[in-house]
Amino acid sequence: MQPTNIGRHEVGRLEMITGPMFSGKSEELIRRLKRARIARQRVACFKPDIDLRYHRTAIASHSSQTHDADTIPPSSDRLREELFTNNKIHEVDVIGLDEVQFFDHHLIPFALELVHLGKRVILAGLDTTFANEPFGPVPNLMALADEVTKLSAVCMTCGAPAIHTQRLGQSQELVVVGAAGLYEARCRAHFQPYIDEHQSEQLELPTVSR
Ligand code: ADP
Ligand code: MG
Repeated sequence: MQPTNIGRHEVGRLEMITGPMFSGKSEELIRRLKRARIARQRVACFKPDIDLRYHRTAIASHSSQTHDADTIPPSSDRLREELFTNNKIHEVDVIGLDEVQFFDHHLIPFALELVHLGKRVILAGLDTTFANEPFGPVPNLMALADEVTKLSAVCMTCGAPAIHTQRLGQSQELVVVGAAGLYEARCRAHFQPYIDEHQSEQLELPTVSR
């Protein structure tokens, strides 16, 4: 007879949605969160307070889909505070977080902590910067996730699948907020990493337009 319940206990799940800008990460996060709500699961959603020009209280995709979200500074301590104050954590089954590339590396153990509390954690974020460097905690989170969905966009030069985020123009600013028209998706053949000789050491925080 097959034994049942061998070693079974409630564990959650870490899902990572990644890819370049315009690849549909926010759309996919919104889709999963909406389906979780249809399944009557309790959902909490957060996004960093970096680009608030379009929506203060929602994540939004380039195709104008939205899902309610709390806006917080991109710090895992702050996320912990949001989830654990007043024991909110016990009222949540699914935790969604967009633009995770802007969070610090403490997000990595914190995400796993949430998983061990039985939560389904769904994270969306860019895997590489416009300089083609790994972006914040995303590559580590990809390695540790139960499931990784790596999306591609459409290359704006040739229409092929695009895995890169091309920064357009020669802006000297490292942080460009809400930069519609400053980035586009490109395939390997048409991607040229942005390199500024004087500032390449500091290239780490390009801000995306959603
Ligand atoms: P991400 O969060 O990955 O930046 P979004 O979910 O916000 O992506 O937006 C995806 C949507 O962007 C697509 O469904 C499409 O409507 C639109 N879009 C605009 N430019 C492109 C492109 N180059 N490739 C694919 N989709 C694009
Ligand atoms: Mg997005």
